[in-house]
Amino acid sequence: MAEFGFDTLAVHAGAQPDPATGARITPIYQTTAYVFEDADQAASLFNLQVFGNIYTRLMNPTTAVLEERIAALEGGTAGLAAASGHAAQHLIFHTIMEPGAEFVSARQLYGGSVNQFNQSFKKYNWHVKWADATDPESFKREITDNTRALFCESLANPGGVITDLEPLARIAEDAGVPLIVDNTLATPYLIRPFEWGAHLVVHSATKFLGGHGNSLGGLITEAGTFDWAKSGKFKTMTEENPSYHGLKFFETFGDFAFCVAARALALRDLGPTMAPMNAFLILTGIETLPLRMRRHCDNALAVARWLEAHERVAWVNYAGLEKHPLYPQHQKYCPKGAGAVFTFGLKGGFEAGVKLVNNVRIFSHLANIGDTRSLIIHPASTTHRQLSDEARVKAGAGPEVVRLSIGIEDVNDIIADLDQAMRA
Ligand SMILES: *Cc1c(COP(=O)(O)O)cnc(C)c1O
Repeated sequence: MAEFGFDTLAVHAGAQPDPATGARITPIYQTTAYVFEDADQAASLFNLQVFGNIYTRLMNPTTAVLEERIAALEGGTAGLAAASGHAAQHLIFHTIMEPGAEFVSARQLYGGSVNQFNQSFKKYNWHVKWADATDPESFKREITDNTRALFCESLANPGGVITDLEPLARIAEDAGVPLIVDNTLATPYLIRPFEWGAHLVVHSATKFLGGHGNSLGGLITEAGTFDWAKSGKFKTMTEENPSYHGLKFFETFGDFAFCVAARALALRDLGPTMAPMNAFLILTGIETLPLRMRRHCDNALAVARWLEAHERVAWVNYAGLEKHPLYPQHQKYCPKGAGAVFTFGLKGGFEAGVKLVNNVRIFSHLANIGDTRSLIIHPASTTHRQLSDEARVKAGAGPEVVRLSIGIEDVNDIIADLDQAMRA
C-alpha cells in the first residue's frame, strides 16, 4: 500500500473485510490454535516453508494486521508484535546478542529501559555502554569488536532530546552494526527513522500508537536494509538453525529475515506474545494516530509557550520552542511537531511540585505518557524518589522538575488547570 498517504495507511494498512464473514472491522480472533488442512500442510507450516497460523504464541490473524500496519507506517518490510515495549526490546536483543556481546545506547532513555539494559540484560552476559544522544561521536568512541548494535530514542523521554539520527546511522553502518531506534514518543507520524538510515524500529505501542491508555503492547519493524552476513557477527541470522532443520534465516528470508527470526526463535522460546484483544485496541487507536498527534503537538506547543511566560516557571524544556538548543533538530527531523511530552521547572522547587500535582483537576497524576488525557508527574516525589539528591539531578529529575504529557482536551482548559493548580 506504499502508494497511499500516511493518514490512509493509518486506517487501512494490513486490513480487509473478514473473508469468512464480511465483518468490516478486523475481528478479535480469540483463539489459541488453528486447524491444519492435513498432515502435509502442518509439516510445511512447522518447517517455515509456508507462512500460516499454528498457535497464537507465534502468530494470530488480528495481531498480523497490526504487524503489517506498523510496517506500512514506518516504511518497513515486516513487523512483529510483543506483549509490551520492554518485551519487544527483549526479543530484538535476544536475536542480535550472544553472551559477552555489547551494545552502545544513548543514556537519555526511558527509565525502564535503563534498568532493563543495566540490570536484567547483565544476567545474559549482555553489556550496555552508554553514550550521549546529542553527540553521535560519543557512540563511535564506545564501539569495539564486541559491539552488536547502537540504540537510541528518536525523541527521548523526558529530556526533550531529538536525536541526530542521520550521522548516527552512518556510524552504525561503518561499524557493521544495526541502529535500533525506539520511536515511541515520536511515532512514525512525526519521525520515520528508516528515512534517516536506521535499521530496526521498536515501539511501546502502550503510549501514542494505542493512544488511549488501555492496552500494553510492543512492536518491532525492520527496514530490510541491513546486511546481517557481512561482519560474520550475527550467527542467529546467518548460521544453520538446529531447531529448523538447518535453515539459515538471512539467506532464506532476505530483507524481512530479522522479523522472521525474532518470531520463530525469540518469541517462540521466550513467549511474550501480544494478546489479540490488545492488538485490536491498538489497531483501533492507530486509525486516529495522525489526528491525535497533530492535536497533541499543537496543544503541547501552546502549553509550553504559556509556561515559558509564567512568573512561577524557571525553565521549559521543549524543543518546539524557538530558543531551545535542539530547535534546529526539531525542524530537520520532526517539523510537524516536537511531541507531547516535556519537562519544566518550578521556581518554588520540591514543595511547589508536590502542590501542583495535588491540585490539578483535569490532569491525571500518574506514571504514564501518550494518553488522550493530559498527564502529570513530579519525578522527585515519585519515579525518582529512591535516588540520592545528586543522582536525581543527574537524571534530569531535580526537585523542581515536573513532567507533562499533554492530551487532546481543549487547550484553554489544560492551561487554566495548570494556572489554578500553580496558584492554589
Ligand atoms: C513506556 C516506554 C517503554 C516501555 O514500554 P512498555 O510498553 O511499558 O513495556 C519503552 N520506551 C519508551 C520510550 C517508553 O515510553
